[in-house]
Amino acid sequence: MNFEDSVKPPVASASDQPWPLGPGAAVLTFDVSGPQTKAALFDTDGVMLGLSRTLIPSPTTARDTTEALLAHVEDLTTQFARDFPLVTPSAAGLIGAGIVDDREGIAILSASLRWANVHYKNLAQHRLQLPSSFSNAARAVGEAEFTLGAGRTHNNVVVIKLGTLIAASLFIDGRSHDGGGFAGGLGHTIVNPQGDRCVCGSRGCLQTVASNGALLSRYTDLTGETLATWEEVLAQSRQSNAAAARVWNEALDALALAISHVTAVLAPEAVVISGGLAHAGEEFFAPLRRRLDGLLSFHRRPLLTPALFGRHAGLVGAALRARAAML
Ligand SMILES: [Zn+2]
Repeated sequence: MNFEDSVKPPVASASDQPWPLGPGAAVLTFDVSGPQTKAALFDTDGVMLGLSRTLIPSPTTARDTTEALLAHVEDLTTQFARDFPLVTPSAAGLIGAGIVDDREGIAILSASLRWANVHYKNLAQHRLQLPSSFSNAARAVGEAEFTLGAGRTHNNVVVIKLGTLIAASLFIDGRSHDGGGFAGGLGHTIVNPQGDRCVCGSRGCLQTVASNGALLSRYTDLTGETLATWEEVLAQSRQSNAAAARVWNEALDALALAISHVTAVLAPEAVVISGGLAHAGEEFFAPLRRRLDGLLSFHRRPLLTPALFGRHAGLVGAALRARAAML
């Protein structure tokens, strides 16, 4: 099989349009993975309504964090009821950062939000008096892509979310595999044991080479100059800036290496990539496919393809989880 021929035609990657969720129960969704809570209501046609971003009042202790977050979610729920009186939600889907046990809805650990073993699913159900789910935000993106997006025609799919962090969602034989919350830590697979120190304490994690911030910091390390965005590093590499080209190429090398390992172990039919460097489109995907092809031998080549959903993918995934929480 010609590898390049297996690639899907470019589609509406990085679109900001919410992909139709499809008909089903009306549900509330809350992305609490950052300092801002992103919230939306999906109606019975699957149309996203009332998208908002609001700051959670600053808590001072770990216990206060949980209380502040739940109170904020409750306030937003009241607001949605006021703004959309004809849409009655039947469930709520919350998504958060860090290590999350999706099945039990427990935030096992989030260093940034100081969570440790918080049963958010149960707490949200009690607070909102609705069936609720709590799952990992990156996996919610994966869920949207696997169920409705670029991975929807396959049973074995890896969805990689690039950005400030790098995470993967794994779908094996049609089901999400989260390893009790610990699976999918692609950003912390080591691509260079002599590499830079990672926030996790290891050296040379993929995240230290291929995250948005890594491109900037590595360019500064090489040149002493500071750029504002990773897109500027790419722009500089186009203009034959050797340092920028090196940083860009090494990011692609590292990603291809990490994907080759995932391919060898899981044999995904498709690897869907969203966010971060993937926004560069074919300028990113074409060289990544070449590199991956060069690293594989007998392995089944996965389709390497851009995500269909844009920046609201996480909420779509949260909506899918919320609907599943009613079953
Ligand atoms: Zn790491």
